Amino acid sequence: MGHLIMDEVSQMCTVGGPMDVEYSERVKGKDYRCRSCGERFKGVGKKPVCPSCQSDDVYEE
Ligand SMILES: [Zn+2]
Repeated sequence: MGHLIMDEVSQMCTVGGPMDVEYSERVKGKDYRCRSCGERFKGVGKKPVCPSCQSDDVYEE
């Protein structure tokens, strides 16, 4: 009774290798403004739409 199981600490094997972390997929967000309602939002992609009125009549600020 009352047997305490020791938490197995996951061993972090720090291998001294080269870092191959590529950050090519960076999130690109641009500031857009909607012509219809004047909403400012962060848009991604080529055809951002206004999150407020769903209009695609937006321009990049
Ligand atoms: Zn809008």
